[in-house]
Amino acid sequence: MRVAIIGCGQLARMLALAGIARGLEFSFLAMEGEECTPVQGLGPVVRFGEGRDLSRLYAELGEPQVMTVEREQLPLSLLRALDRLAPVHPSPDAVAICQHRRKEKSFLGGLGLPTAPWRLVDADTDLMALAGELGWPLFVKSCEQGYDGKNQWCLTEHSTATPPLPAGNAYIAEGVIRFDRELSLVAVRGRDGQMAYYPLTENRHHQGILHCSVAPAPALSPGLQGVAQEMATTLMTAMGYVGVLTLELFQVGNRLIINELAPRVHNSGHWTQDGSQTCQFDNHLRAITGAALGSTSTRGGGASAMINLLGMASPQSLPSANTRLHWYHKPVRPGRKQGHINLVGADRAQVEGEMTRLLKRLYPGIHRRLQQPVAP
Ligand code: ATP
Ligand code: MG
Ligand code: MG
Repeated sequence: MRVAIIGCGQLARMLALAGIARGLEFSFLAMEGEECTPVQGLGPVVRFGEGRDLSRLYAELGEPQVMTVEREQLPLSLLRALDRLAPVHPSPDAVAICQHRRKEKSFLGGLGLPTAPWRLVDADTDLMALAGELGWPLFVKSCEQGYDGKNQWCLTEHSTATPPLPAGNAYIAEGVIRFDRELSLVAVRGRDGQMAYYPLTENRHHQGILHCSVAPAPALSPGLQGVAQEMATTLMTAMGYVGVLTLELFQVGNRLIINELAPRVHNSGHWTQDGSQTCQFDNHLRAITGAALGSTSTRGGGASAMINLLGMASPQSLPSANTRLHWYHKPVRPGRKQGHINLVGADRAQVEGEMTRLLKRLYPGIHRRLQQPVAP
């Protein structure tokens, strides 16, 4: 069976690496001007451009039986047109919700799921007055084309410049959530409606970018995993979702608030490559190809961690047999996700000890901040 992946970044590469091991074939649809992660040898790369004949493009992709996306920022008209040639999972409707913050927040609100308080804003909005209502700091986020904290601003009462907001409803403002920590739930739903969930993962960001994750999230209060799973069940059922869906969450005391959704495999699920019975990439492919989902239990009941390698060259050596390097083979650029290291261990103490040593070496300036949950 051939799977076409729309997008050709590292998530596409890791999906293909997982699927080839199981006998699937791949092709990649790159957007105009998209810089591809090396996928040579994993399948043909076809480039999309305005005016391209879609049946020809579909033939060049090797007439895939199913197609999937590796990111949410993709043209919906293209996804809908491709969906008429072979099913696109998750569906273009699901991607439409997750690629637009207003649509996503309205959708979550409509299902009674908690989010940060938010309003639509534009050039005419009095942000000072709005902050009086939602509180400082105020997060102003572009509805579309935002990732890794790009296209968003955190305004405080001392901010001198306000973001250049255009007319129209292209931005939202969000009140701050004073979270105890950030968590994520990677969930998956098969074509037959079967669902599975990975353990909640604790995520530590610096300047809006994920630096490291620990799984299962340490010191989880009872019931929290169940609450997150219920949220994911509600969402996936409402969307008729097929594939992996990730919920980015804020934990406040015993409550979970949804930050945003990612209709795809997620950076915070990379630890599953080495720490889970079935990794997120394999389970996504199982879901979209109609195969039975694999177990989401941790390997050996142990603990895992993941450290992103941001803007740095490949480490020459790794400290122990419990660490595994996943390198994306992309030219090194400041702040860019070049690869990640997964750490696995029989227990949390071992994994945390090793993670601390690695963070010290890789992020000497900020390693202390990354060793514990980061408050806003
Ligand atoms: P991603 O790369 O995950 O797609 P993004 O650019 O879509 O990121 P968000 O997830 O909206 O951005 O925000 C990035 C980070 O900024 C969050 O993980 C969190 O640390 C912080 N943040 C965003 N919104 C809020 C909020 N309302 N309250 C507190 N912190 C926030
Ligand atoms: Mg996002
Ligand atoms: Mg996010």
